[in-house]
Amino acid sequence: MERFQDKVILITGGGSGLGKATALQVAKEGAILSLVDLNEQGLEETKKEILKIVPNAKITLIKANVANEEEVKNYVQETINQFGKIDGFFNNAGIEGKQNLTEDFSTEEFEKVVNINLNGVFYGMKHVLKVMKEQGSGSIVNTASVGGIRGVGNQSGYAASKHGVVGLTRNSGIEYGEYGVSIKAIAPGAILTPMVEGSLKQIGGENWEEAGKEFVSVNPMKRFGKPEEVGYLVAFLLSDHAGFINAAVIPIDGGQSYKY
Ligand code: NAD
Repeated sequence: MERFQDKVILITGGGSGLGKATALQVAKEGAILSLVDLNEQGLEETKKEILKIVPNAKITLIKANVANEEEVKNYVQETINQFGKIDGFFNNAGIEGKQNLTEDFSTEEFEKVVNINLNGVFYGMKHVLKVMKEQGSGSIVNTASVGGIRGVGNQSGYAASKHGVVGLTRNSGIEYGEYGVSIKAIAPGAILTPMVEGSLKQIGGENWEEAGKEFVSVNPMKRFGKPEEVGYLVAFLLSDHAGFINAAVIPIDGGQSYKY
């Protein structure tokens, strides 16, 4: 029996990187998918890749900005209208923002990063939790980061927002456990997605691949993580197999967070 047969999985940031890898994994295991992103082209690409592997997959695509609460309310409602329930929610869309010393970090940039990474995760939880509480079941996986459990440097907005995601996870996990709903966060280290490529380009410019090699040289495993490795973890956390994991933050970073 497939783990996600007849299960409705909602994913934000489904048009790229970790959201896309997770969508592919749960689709292979039978999931019905509602994919949300700002980037419509990315969403179409994800759908195309899934249909190549799972030709009869049920997928709906919703363009929305997670930093806008009305649009969040709408993507939740759309998913319910289409599929009638939400079994798993990967609350994942996020950005890194420009890297800078705290004193040089612009207030606009700080607000932008926090609006997407923290407010967006809060809005998602707020509107999905109503549905899951009523159902009496559900699993939410929020995407935090190593930067949500340790200091990384040059990332004021990112660190503040991701520490906030960890706080929201712990707070709400305690509130909703008794309703059969579990809430977890993942704390990925450097996983080679378009976001990390962008980050390496900020550090190394044209020589970003060299910057990448230097970057991973301090990782205990001396390599980047792969998006599909995160997909396997999130699929497990969204499944019934992880029903007793609640209010927990799971690192997936090759051991990096213990070195900071
Ligand atoms: P990515 O850039 O490949 O994918 C992020 C997706 O989110 C994109 O498709 C983008 O269009 C979408 N998005 C961005 N802002 C949005 C908004 N306001 N509304 C809706 N969609 C929006 O990046 P990724 O590496 O897959 O990152 C996914 C999550 O993982 C992010 O929260 C990121 O902070 C986190 N993360 C990534 C890494 C890593 O190494 N890749 C490490 C730690 C945490």
